[in-house]
Amino acid sequence: MNSIEAPETLLWRESRIKIPYAWAAGETASRFFIEIRDRKKIFGTKCPSCDKVYCPPKKTCGDCFSNCGEWLEVGPDGEITGFTQALYEGGAHPVKNPVGGLILLRGASTAMLHLIGQCPLEELKIGMKVTPVFKENRQGNILDILHFIPAKQNHG
Ligand SMILES: [Zn+2]
Repeated sequence: MNSIEAPETLLWRESRIKIPYAWAAGETASRFFIEIRDRKKIFGTKCPSCDKVYCPPKKTCGDCFSNCGEWLEVGPDGEITGFTQALYEGGAHPVKNPVGGLILLRGASTAMLHLIGQCPLEELKIGMKVTPVFKENRQGNILDILHFIPAKQNHG
């Protein structure tokens, strides 16, 4: 009769798991996404103490911890303050090899991270003016803005 003994060492195999999940966006993010979804308007919140305008909006100022209760419309245009491209596959990437940028919307003090489209990476520049392209069928999330594209320069 053959017997099998327990191995002296255990083997490990590294892998990944995919877990569907849902999270509550909360009052501030919900209002932000609803304005984009229903009216294609982008809002930030303003700190009454230091006048910093957060976009994406924050309920509490990260600098002075005041309640940012005032909502104001920002953008929709802005400028690129940084950018990069992801050259690896990622489950969270909405597109293959996404070009992402920090977009400082007009009237905001903080930049929002979003996709940049319709512009080759080598033509992007810090300070480039961009404008959002909204999705046709918006669902109440950050991808209701499809991406930001270079703004048409008005030379007239
Ligand atoms: Zn503040």
